Amino acid sequence: MITQTAVPWQTPTWKEELSGAFRSVDDLLQFLELEGTDLAFQSDSTSPFPIRVPISYARRMRKGDPDDPLLRQVLPLQAETLTFPGFVADPLEEARHNPVPGVVHKYEGRVLLITSPACAVHCRYCFRRHFPYEDNTGGKAHWQPALDYIAGDLSVREVILSGGDPLAANDNQLQWLTDQLARIGHIRRLRVHSRFPVVIPSRIDDPCLSWLGGSRLDTIMVLHINHPAEIDSNLRAMVARLKDRNITVLNQAVLLKGVNDSAESLELLSEALFAAGVLPYYLHLLDPVAGASHFDLPVSEALALYRTLSGRLPGYLLPKLVQDVPGKASKTYIV
Ligand code: SF4
Repeated sequence: MITQTAVPWQTPTWKEELSGAFRSVDDLLQFLELEGTDLAFQSDSTSPFPIRVPISYARRMRKGDPDDPLLRQVLPLQAETLTFPGFVADPLEEARHNPVPGVVHKYEGRVLLITSPACAVHCRYCFRRHFPYEDNTGGKAHWQPALDYIAGDLSVREVILSGGDPLAANDNQLQWLTDQLARIGHIRRLRVHSRFPVVIPSRIDDPCLSWLGGSRLDTIMVLHINHPAEIDSNLRAMVARLKDRNITVLNQAVLLKGVNDSAESLELLSEALFAAGVLPYYLHLLDPVAGASHFDLPVSEALALYRTLSGRLPGYLLPKLVQDVPGKASKTYIV
């Protein structure tokens, strides 16, 4: 853990925070004073999608509370090993939209580039938890076919850096990539989908801001925050740095049973996002990925909750309730 290795008066770099992340359920539960809890979690050796939790994120969890909504997002439970009809490895059928390694092209006008296979945190409900990253790895050599594909399709106006988490790549590589994209005349916008700024806010450092804010492309950062307790002063400072560079900052959340399935918590989330300078963008229904069925909320309950939320928030704070349906030309609006 970072606290064991870092010099006390030095702020750890994002790479130190990443390498110091919890990779053991026992260590995390000990840190949270939850040893001996009767939580039915998986032992480290049996999980094919191992635990990963940065300490800066763990510090936002309530000690001694096995139901903490941040802990619930990252703790591998035994429930993940249950099979459930309709919950599959590739719920969005992305394999059908993978024209060249690294590219997912589902919707007109924009393509998604798998920029890095790594993540700063392993979210247990992730719809890409079984994604074949070995066939879609990042790095300059692997990105060239993707760049050629994007350059060859004049209808593409926006490139979405995704993963994994694109900010797991190093800044030299990301600078090179954004330079290449900016050279393609028909590309107007760069969108970055990342949970790094949330779980390790120090990732938004000067080298990162240099390529993020230095491009001719309009740049949008889409964060992934599911619960108001994820928003702290470090995150607010990070958002301010992004906005200083004229980067639009949006948030997408996933509706998760046991995490944020109440109108109160979603209302507080929208309020806290706005106070931090972030606009709520999407509230996704859970994608039915194998291993995540315990997070699922029936659509009827989701709708009832959303109607309550609609009555409490002004329109600009109400995220759109959406679902990804394989084969559709865009996201499906539930309301
Ligand atoms: S950071 Fe994003 S891609 Fe990575 S595990 Fe979490 S939801 Fe999935």
